[in-house]
Amino acid sequence: MRADGGGVKFARLRRSALAPRGLRGDNGPWAGRVRVRDGFEDAEVGRGRLVYPFAEGPKLGEAVDIAPGVKWMRMPLGGSLAYINVWALKDGDGWAIVDTGMQTAPTTDAWRQVFAKVLNGAPVTRVFVTHMHPDHIGMAGWITRKFDCRLWITRLEYMMCRMLAADTGREAPDEGLRFYRSAGWSQDAIDTYTARFGGFGKSMHALPDSFRRLVDGEEIAIGDQVWRVVVGSGHSPEHACLYCPALKLMISGDQVLPRITSNVSVFPTEPDGDPLRDWLTSLAAIKPRVPDDVLVLPAHNDPFHGLHLRIDHLIGGHERSLARLEKLIAEPKRAVDVFSVLFKRTINNDVLSMATGESLAHLNCLMHRGRAVREADADGVDWYRATPAA
Ligand SMILES: [Zn+2]
Repeated sequence: MRADGGGVKFARLRRSALAPRGLRGDNGPWAGRVRVRDGFEDAEVGRGRLVYPFAEGPKLGEAVDIAPGVKWMRMPLGGSLAYINVWALKDGDGWAIVDTGMQTAPTTDAWRQVFAKVLNGAPVTRVFVTHMHPDHIGMAGWITRKFDCRLWITRLEYMMCRMLAADTGREAPDEGLRFYRSAGWSQDAIDTYTARFGGFGKSMHALPDSFRRLVDGEEIAIGDQVWRVVVGSGHSPEHACLYCPALKLMISGDQVLPRITSNVSVFPTEPDGDPLRDWLTSLAAIKPRVPDDVLVLPAHNDPFHGLHLRIDHLIGGHERSLARLEKLIAEPKRAVDVFSVLFKRTINNDVLSMATGESLAHLNCLMHRGRAVREADADGVDWYRATPAA
C-alpha cells in the first residue's frame, strides 16, 4: 500500500504487477521467461528451489492447521493478489490473531465465519499486526473493539498509520505535487494524484487509541509458546515478524514473500529517504537471527521452506536492478524514464505512483552510495546521472 494516501486499488496491484524483473520467485510462471527476456537475470532463482509443503490453502471462513495451536486463514483482497494470509495462535482459552485483512464487507463476512466455525466462539485475546498497510491492519480496529482486546504493533507502524489515516479529507499537499512533478509526471498524472489523495484511511477501521508496543528482539509468550519479534524496514518503517524457535515457524508478513516482491518506495513525506538500504540491510539481518529450517508463513502466496535462499534472491535481485539502473543513467534520466530496467510490465496510470516510488528508492540508493547525482532543470524536474567510475 502506498503511504501517501493513495487509493485502495494500489495495494492490490503493487507486488505482483510491479515485481522487478527476475524477482518473481523460483518456480513461478515467470522464471524461465525472465531469463529469456534479459540475459543479466537471476541465475540463482532458476537454481534454487523453495518448498511449499501445503498442497492447498484454506477456503474463506475456514482454516488449515499449520502446527498445534497455529491456524492459517485467508481474507479476500480481490485484484491480482486475491488473498492475504492471517494466522490464529492459541492463547489460553482464546486465540491471538496475526494480521487482519482489508476493511471490506467480504472480509467482515469471512471473519464472522472464522469466529463461529474455526474459533468455535472462543474469544480473540489480542490482535498482532505486522505493519500498517491496510490489507494487514484494516480490520484491527473492528476486531479489537468487538473483543475488547489490545492491538500489539510496533510504535512506528502505529504512529505512521495514525498519520496517514489523518490525511483523509485533506487536500493533496504542495510537497506531494512538487515531489511528483520533479519525478517527471504529466499534469494528468498529477491531477489523478490530487483526486485520489487521502484514500488510505478509507480502507481501514479506525485504530484503537492505545496499543501495546512490539519491540525488536522481545520474546512474547502466546499460549504455551514463545514468539520472538524480528523487526525489518524498507517496505514499511518498523515491520514486525514473529519467530517461534520451538515450533520452527516464522510469520513473515510482507518482509519475506516467496513468489512476489514487496514494494519499496520513496514517498513525498521523505523525498530523500533511502528505504532500499533499510530493506537490504534488514533482510540480511534476518539470516543470523532466524535459522534456515523454519517454515515461513508469509502474508501472500503459500507457506514455504527456504528462508535464507529467498532472502538471497531478494537481495540479489535488487542489486542487479541497481546495476542495470546505473548503466542506464550514463545518460541523464528522470525517475519516469527508468521503469524499463526495473519492471517487466508497462507502467500505466494505475501503477504510476508505485513505480515512481520504487524507481526513486533505487535512484536514491545509488545516490547514497555515491554512484549517482541529481540535478534539477529549469522546470524543477530532477535528472539523475551516474557518477563516472573513479
Ligand atoms: Zn505491506
